[in-house]
Amino acid sequence: MPSLFDGASARIEAALAHIEISDDIAQQLAQPDTALKVSVPLRHDDGAMKLYPGYRVRYDTTLGPAKGGIRFHPDVNADEVSTLAFWMTMKCAVLGLPFGGGKGGIAIDPKQLSPAELERLSRAYIDKVADFIGPDSDIPAPDVNTNPRVMGWMMDQYRIINRAEVRDVITGKPVEMGGSAGRTTATGDGAFHTLTTLMKRWEREPDGTTVAVQGFGNAGARFARLCAEAGYTVVAVSDSGGGIYNADGLDLDAIAKAKETDGSVSAADGQTLSNDEIVELEVDILAPAALENVITADNADRVRAGVIVEIANGPVASEADRTLEDNGVQVVPDILANAGGVTVSYFEWVQNRQAWYWAADTVAERLQSRMVEATEAVAERAETLEVGYRTAAYVIALEKLEAAAKARGTSAFFRTDNG
Ligand code: NAD
Repeated sequence: MPSLFDGASARIEAALAHIEISDDIAQQLAQPDTALKVSVPLRHDDGAMKLYPGYRVRYDTTLGPAKGGIRFHPDVNADEVSTLAFWMTMKCAVLGLPFGGGKGGIAIDPKQLSPAELERLSRAYIDKVADFIGPDSDIPAPDVNTNPRVMGWMMDQYRIINRAEVRDVITGKPVEMGGSAGRTTATGDGAFHTLTTLMKRWEREPDGTTVAVQGFGNAGARFARLCAEAGYTVVAVSDSGGGIYNADGLDLDAIAKAKETDGSVSAADGQTLSNDEIVELEVDILAPAALENVITADNADRVRAGVIVEIANGPVASEADRTLEDNGVQVVPDILANAGGVTVSYFEWVQNRQAWYWAADTVAERLQSRMVEATEAVAERAETLEVGYRTAAYVIALEKLEAAAKARGTSAFFRTDNG
């Protein structure tokens, strides 16, 4: 299998069949702008000191300061962080946000840490990257296994280092520390707005439409709930402990409770199923909302869903694209479907800079309007070019990056031979 990054950049190649971009921006997008690797020291509760690899990447800043989450996961590595930062670059461009792409992470299993260890780790990470991030250069946010509390500790550590309250250095903070209303639910909300917009275009109704969600975390659980409330039949959900299935629709309250008390949705009443099985279920809509590369060349042929809504970043490997397309599976790409989180992060950054906070309704309306507008633009471009939604989204992103590069002057402008 190609590296995660090689797979991700293959999507640019597909878009380049439909748009010409200057050499300048093509070169710029071929590798990260700046990458930092650090060792994050953690004094464990038993007294042991251990160092964990930490990363922060600014992939591209043509459209503004880098923006992107921080992930705590044992599999975090330089290739993954760069790829996630690349996707953030494209996502911010598709949504028209004034940001470039960034990402960070620590290779560690946070589930093995006590609350005090987690706090020390979060602060130690900021000690290491404080000179690299900033409200006008690189603005972190939550990602897998990081949450508002972690963001709060990180902002607080930045305040200690700088001896100044700098709220706009990090988003996804607790509301009491300058966070935005609606940030926690934003990714699930945004994915739901995208799906709703497309369902209208397809002239399809939620009633009788079945949904499976892999990954019952912040984004996936919210999306599942919104689908159920809108009349879809959510037949399966899963988490790292396995999945649960009911052809008549699941009781999501009972499932959330099972996850809270027993640690996994699979402890709820219903028929259990594995994470491999959920991907191959016969459903109308499959929403992978956990990690990368769950649909690859190995299993793409067994996907029986009609539509895949990519709530996770990179759940479909590029090598699976052709098979899915040949089998008529529509893929709603991550750089559109999960952009609700960074959109409300942008709103949080704006509110922090103005010290003027919006009501929850205002945030919700503005998020919906951004998501609907971006989804319509992608869908229209897909129709015009007769391509899938992913390629259409990349074409739109590349157009915006190219326009911003041109505004600064590309090779064509600076050429001295008048040729
Ligand atoms: P989270 O940590 O809240 O939830 C992740 C969920 O996935 C958990 O339920 C976990 O048990 C489950 N999971 C982990 N490994 C799994 C596996 N192998 N099989 C099935 N389930 C597994 O994370 P989140 O914030 O909901 O993020 C999920 C995905 O969405 C990630 O890819 C993330 O990059 C992406 N995303 C999140 C946001 C956001 O704002 N939270 C924004 C954009 C994209």
